[in-house]
Amino acid sequence: MSGKKEFHIIGAGVAGLGIGWRLAQRGHRVTVFDKGEAGKGASWAAAGMLASILESEPGEESLLPFLLEAQNLWPDFVKEISDFTGLDIGYRQTGTIFAACERDDAGILRQRYDFLQKNGVTLEWLERETVRAREPFLSPRVYSALYSPGDHQVDNRALTLALHAACLASGVTIRSHAPVSEIMSEGGHVAALRCMGDMIPAQNVVLCAGAWSAEIRGAPEVNSGNLPPVYPLKGQMLALQMDPKHPILTHVLWTPRVYLVPRKDGRLVIGATMEDRGFESLQRAGSVLHLLRETFEVLPGMEELPLAESWTGLRPSSRDDAPILGPTGIKGLSIATGQHRHGILMTPLIAGLMADYLITGKLGASARPYTLARFG
Ligand SMILES: Cc1cc2nc3c(=O)[nH]c(=O)nc-3n(C[C@H](O)[C@H](O)[C@H](O)COP(=O)(O)OP(=O)(O)OC[C@H]3O[C@@H](n4cnc5c(N)ncnc54)[C@H](O)[C@@H]3O)c2cc1C
Repeated sequence: MSGKKEFHIIGAGVAGLGIGWRLAQRGHRVTVFDKGEAGKGASWAAAGMLASILESEPGEESLLPFLLEAQNLWPDFVKEISDFTGLDIGYRQTGTIFAACERDDAGILRQRYDFLQKNGVTLEWLERETVRAREPFLSPRVYSALYSPGDHQVDNRALTLALHAACLASGVTIRSHAPVSEIMSEGGHVAALRCMGDMIPAQNVVLCAGAWSAEIRGAPEVNSGNLPPVYPLKGQMLALQMDPKHPILTHVLWTPRVYLVPRKDGRLVIGATMEDRGFESLQRAGSVLHLLRETFEVLPGMEELPLAESWTGLRPSSRDDAPILGPTGIKGLSIATGQHRHGILMTPLIAGLMADYLITGKLGASARPYTLARFG
């Protein structure tokens, strides 16, 4: 194939699979490596909220346009991947309710409302009766709420499976249980990957290893600060099972202490803690207690629901909580990580921006503030 390149991608989460699919669609040869089962990292553990609006907090103004750009790509992306694979990825456009249960919560809601309005996003302010009309099973303690009609959800596990299927159908090779232990360079250019004793020649490598991106020998280094540019931020999650014909919640629901994400099949995903505990994957009783207690506070009917699952995951967080995209100091080695708690939302945007960059050498304007060089 003339003009076509060969790419090696480290990490088969939504980032690696999304970029791999986009490259393969344009005729390039792609191999994606994963140290475990492809797609079972943070991308599996997430809640799947596409919450560019409500999840933006004071201090995150500069990231808001990037998140909104990602949000806008979702309707077309859902159609494209569903048509191509025949798979339903559980995209639900119900909007998100942010509920106040305590006196202090109302202050938090007001602050978020003012912050977003200042940044050009207007939310609906709902009084008690309106909230209860939309979600009749909420606790009577809920006395006001914000409604964000643009914050939706996708079933991130279904998304990961669909990306996997789209990659395979487009000719991408996916190697599960194939850890890359070293990225080897020669004369400032990436030259090879070491994987399970093999040395694989590689001229175009994309590092998408999520929370583990700074752990691989030969990964790009930055020389300021004590933290690596990417570190794991643990999140503990739970799921309860509702009757899908009679769900007790239909919108994504937030309080300042917990969020609840009702899936089409009645699964109620509950999250999440934010714990700086390195690569620990233990489930701790205190975290489960916190999530269940806060869920009960806002949705008392949860008491009768069966517990379906509990799990933990590691967000790939960066020093400034923004993504790390594009070139590194090593020629031929690119990076897409650091998406923190927005990596599912960012999937279509990062896949498109990175594929364009890898093919043309030009980084799109929206990705330019997010290169690794900002930490140097
Ligand atoms: C509890 C929780 C809740 C979240 N909720 C949301 C949400 O609601 N909305 C949202 O947008 N985002 C959410 N996120 C964030 C989102 O999940 C991540 O930002 C996103 O999944 C990151 O995707 P990734 O492909 O970069 O990483 P991952 O999915 O972690 O993929 C990285 C892959 O690299 C592999 N790997 C690592 N080292 C190597 C190696 N040496 N060789 C080969 N492979 C390697 C790993 O096995 C892994 O499969 C949440 C995250 C967590 C943990």
